[in-house]
Amino acid sequence: MAVKSDVIVKTVLRCEKCGESFSDSFEQCPKCGSRRFEGYTVVNPISRLPMESMLRFVGHVMWLMGTAVCFGFLWNTNTDDATRNWWMVVAGFGILGFSVVSAITLFALGEMLKRIIRVQRRVRAMMDDHSSQGG
Ligand SMILES: [Zn+2]
Repeated sequence: MAVKSDVIVKTVLRCEKCGESFSDSFEQCPKCGSRRFEGYTVVNPISRLPMESMLRFVGHVMWLMGTAVCFGFLWNTNTDDATRNWWMVVAGFGILGFSVVSAITLFALGEMLKRIIRVQRRVRAMMDDHSSQGG
């Protein structure tokens, strides 16, 4: 599983001119080309729980569990009782369907959260830029 770039500790540079944050591997600002950098900022992963990664993880667990349970139920459909077999199939696929829907919901929530956080960061960077220009 790939490590999310915003979860690990990383050093970022912030452009003095446009407020863009970027990796310290850049020689100049990728947005405006300025070489005036505010300096290093360490993005601390403990400062905020990586909720979107958590949601993705739970989503994966959900559908994996659902698939396992579904197989478990289908494995027990070879009894003599036809009604029981039928209910086993219904329950198995019911749980599978529920787990898949839950997983998709969790993925969607995670994706939404990621976008919201990205927008928040941009807004904050813009605010910082304005306040530094004003003062
Ligand atoms: Zn810039």
